[in-house]
Order: sequence, then structure tokens, then C-alpha cells
Amino acid sequence: MAIERTLSIIKPDATRRNLTGKINAKFEEAGLRIVAQKRIKLSMEQAGKFYEVHKERPFYGELCEFMASEPVVVQVLEGEGAILKNREVMGATNPADAAPGTIRAEFAESVGENSVHGSDAPETAAQEIAYFFSGLELVG
Ligand code: ADP
Ligand code: MG
Repeated sequence: MAIERTLSIIKPDATRRNLTGKINAKFEEAGLRIVAQKRIKLSMEQAGKFYEVHKERPFYGELCEFMASEPVVVQVLEGEGAILKNREVMGATNPADAAPGTIRAEFAESVGENSVHGSDAPETAAQEIAYFFSGLELVG
């Protein structure tokens, strides 16, 4: 399988509870390398644009308010099959359905406040990485 890059976000429920290091350890234990990372605070507009694909869903407003409520850590993860591997490490969207040992099973508070975001396909990974990082910030 090819080396891929995927966008990850450690969400406000996790930064608030000081879980950045514990979550990063899960990525590294799974063989994903954190090749870029920064802690930022999203505006409502920035959160809204990032999650535009969900704008017709009933939870869109709540999701954008949550993502803009406190700092997030945006990061690029790299590794063999990184997009799918990260989705496995994250676990299911709803922590009640997430497999034991996954980030969401261990740390998520609810289906909305579920600790991490991860890109779901090569096209979205490329778009989402470019949304937060310039080429100069991606040194591998
Ligand atoms: P994932 O993050 O697993 O890719 P989705 O892309 O379906 O999940 O949804 C994006 C985000 O929207 C979720 O991670 C979660 O924060 C929020 N969300 C999804 N479903 C719900 C829901 N039923 N109620 C509240 N928030 C939700
Ligand atoms: Mg998604």
C-alpha cells in the first residue's frame, strides 16, 4: 500500500481535557507519523467552511459552534494507507459504536464531541490538508 497523508484534527473536547499527547501516542503507536501540527482557534466562518459538506445536516450549527468554541490541534499524519489507518485508530463516529482501544472509545464524550476528525478519502485528505497547511509547512 502507498504512503499517504491525511488531515487530523484534535477537537475542542480533547484539547480542553489536555488529551493531545495521549491522542498523539495512539497515532504513533499505529505507525502514523505526525509530519505537521499546529494549535489554532477556528472562527465560526472557518469551521463552517471546513464542514460545508455537512451544511444540510441538522447538527451543522451545533458542530460549527463546538469546533469554534476552544482551540483545536490540526495535524498531517503520514504512513502506509494513512487515510484508512487513521479512521481505524479513531473508531466509529459515535463512541458507543467505537471498537475498544480506539481514540473515540477511550476519549470521546458524545457523537458530536468525539475528540478527533480524520479525512475520509484521498480527495478530501488533499483538500483538507491544503485548507490548513502550506507546502512550506510540510517537510515530511
Ligand atoms: P466522522 O467525523 O466520523 O467522519 P461525519 O463526517 O459523519 O463523521 O460527521 C462529522 C462530525 O459531525 C462528527 O465527527 C461529529 O462531530 C458530528 N456529528 C456527526 N453525527 C452527529 C449527530 N448525529 N449529532 C451531532 N453531531 C454529529
Ligand atoms: Mg467525516
